[in-house]
Amino acid sequence: MAHQTTASTCCYCGVGCGVLIEHDGEQITGVAGDPAHPANHGRLCSKGSTLHLTGDLAARALHPELRSGKALPRDRTDWDNALDHAAAVFAETIREHGPDSVAFYISGQLLTEDYYAFNKLARALVGTNNIDSNSRLCMSSAVVGYKRSLGADAPPCAYEDVEQSHCLLIAGSNMAYAHPVLFRRLEAAKARRPEMKIIVVDPRRTDTCELADLHLAILPGTDVALFHGILHILLWEGWIDRAWIEAHTEGFDELKKLVRDYSPAAVADICGISVGSLQTCAELIGKAPSFLSLWCMGLNQSTSGSAKNSALINLHLATGQIGKPGAGPFSLTGQPNAMGGRETGSLANLLPGHREAGNAGHRAEVADYWRIDALPESTGLTAIELFEAVRIGRIKALWIACTNPAQSLPDQQKIHEALAACPFVVVQEAYATTETCRYADLLLPAAGWGEKEGMVTNSERRLSHVRRAVPAPGEARADWAIVCDFARRLEKHLRPGRPSLFEFADPAALFDEYKQLTAGRDLDLSGLSHALIDELGPQQWPFPTGASRGTPRLYADGVFPTASGRAHLHADPYRAPQERREARYPLILNTGRLRDQWHGMSRTGTVARLFGHVEEAVLGLHPDELRRRRLAGGDLARLRSRRGSLILPVQADESIRPGQAFLPMHWGDRFLKGLGTNVLTLPACDPLSKQPELKHAGVEVEKV
Ligand code: SF4
Repeated sequence: MAHQTTASTCCYCGVGCGVLIEHDGEQITGVAGDPAHPANHGRLCSKGSTLHLTGDLAARALHPELRSGKALPRDRTDWDNALDHAAAVFAETIREHGPDSVAFYISGQLLTEDYYAFNKLARALVGTNNIDSNSRLCMSSAVVGYKRSLGADAPPCAYEDVEQSHCLLIAGSNMAYAHPVLFRRLEAAKARRPEMKIIVVDPRRTDTCELADLHLAILPGTDVALFHGILHILLWEGWIDRAWIEAHTEGFDELKKLVRDYSPAAVADICGISVGSLQTCAELIGKAPSFLSLWCMGLNQSTSGSAKNSALINLHLATGQIGKPGAGPFSLTGQPNAMGGRETGSLANLLPGHREAGNAGHRAEVADYWRIDALPESTGLTAIELFEAVRIGRIKALWIACTNPAQSLPDQQKIHEALAACPFVVVQEAYATTETCRYADLLLPAAGWGEKEGMVTNSERRLSHVRRAVPAPGEARADWAIVCDFARRLEKHLRPGRPSLFEFADPAALFDEYKQLTAGRDLDLSGLSHALIDELGPQQWPFPTGASRGTPRLYADGVFPTASGRAHLHADPYRAPQERREARYPLILNTGRLRDQWHGMSRTGTVARLFGHVEEAVLGLHPDELRRRRLAGGDLARLRSRRGSLILPVQADESIRPGQAFLPMHWGDRFLKGLGTNVLTLPACDPLSKQPELKHAGVEVEKV
């Protein structure tokens, strides 16, 4: 077949780069950056530029497989038998134990239409809010931060703001590795305008720090104290915008009272930095004509994740640095479509169109639109709660799609116990090699990148089209099609004789139904369609009916989507992380990304070239900590936390301060002796966002 090019979108991180897939209609043969895509203007990083090498069929799930007993191997079956069986088991479980005895755990890798279909399945057909996503591990603290401070889960900035800002604060993000193409844009902007100031807040001296004018290597988890300390100085020096605060915010007096206690000396002590560097940081922010902050998992994956987000947003509200070019709080979304998931309601507490599952009015609006009697009122289980409910037998049928909780959730031993004990586990996956697939009673092969079609929303609220270039291998099917086919079979059990809620011809039809649920909401994208995005190119929401272009920047008028129209300044005191350094566990383990790997490595782990940067799992420790334990680089050591242990080589790493350790998050038990990185991490969660503290575990290291 002739050589063809299909414009699509990268499936890895939240930058959302446009890619041109080169193929012959059967096989993907190459990939290039799309010069017409506004996120990347033709650039790709090491992961995106090797996407065409990820088609290793040996790693793929190719046929439905079913087993009739936990101790038995799965046998190949056909789609009819697989989905009929799943529908019968789910129906029987619901009949016997109620709708909350089943659950769905889905993924920020899914496309918007897949998400929407899953939501409708769980809430409208099954009647449960037990649907959560791995976005709970990624962005849920940012969601809470935006909502409680600004009134809506809406990052207000655009990528151009990163290039236009006079002062950027990058907190808890190794952007050079995790969002490489946006970092390249920042590097280019800094080269053009060296007067642009960049502050990096990170316990480690990461590659991102190479671009920094100021690096604050704070002690892990002390961000709230730092942000309050910065605000203390801004107030003291008169570097706040009192008129803007009075016109557009509420809660200032309470916050002012709180930050009085966060003197430079006290904050320097808590954060383990010098008073001088704190003063410099505040001055750079306070005197900048525009100030932008970027953050990622270092703030979100924390028992204080919501407070960290709100404390950082406070700095913008106190200085009026929001809603104008180069200014604003700007979370960097981890996953390619975590935003799309939030939009369609794919966290247990949400409903489509940024609605709340706990809001009776919101439930009624969605139920009316779906033409069903009512939506479930019971509180849905969030990721950590959900797997604990599986472990103790409350959840009896679990459907996992496009994610690998046996590798990615904290306190991994318990997750494995939960999956082993669950009476019926369905895993809908493109890759058969993941740790979670071992627990599948029913494995459903899903189409992967380049083989399916739908929308994704990137960090700047921009919807891009992911297009199908080649057929899926074997019998793999698109995720939305699997969900709708299963749902139609389940309807025969749960609402026989009634018209189906799941008759969709294609993803465009799903999108058209979904978008009406956003009309009049903060994220209104009712003016968009697959066809219009193809015509206009990727667009940022809101894009209401009748609009001719998207909206690059929010809150330019200083009006916020809260009841009063004002933003809220929050006065949350600093709280120490759950685990502290102590005699038995004297090191704090931080986890994070490698430049060339993605999540649990199901895709990137198939590309030899991507191991060129880092070949194997290695624990990084400051040279003093190695010496103290009589360890040398390359020695094998046992890394132990309260929850489990791993054996792996150590290396001296001066980017890490004494008292800390660093291990990439990617390694699962396919690559490590012991379960994987997350056997060590703890399931303690932020009280509001329910996001677990994946970056702060007490550990010890011993020579073996
Ligand atoms: Fe893909 Fe992110 Fe790299 Fe862009 S920066 S090519 S979206 S992994």
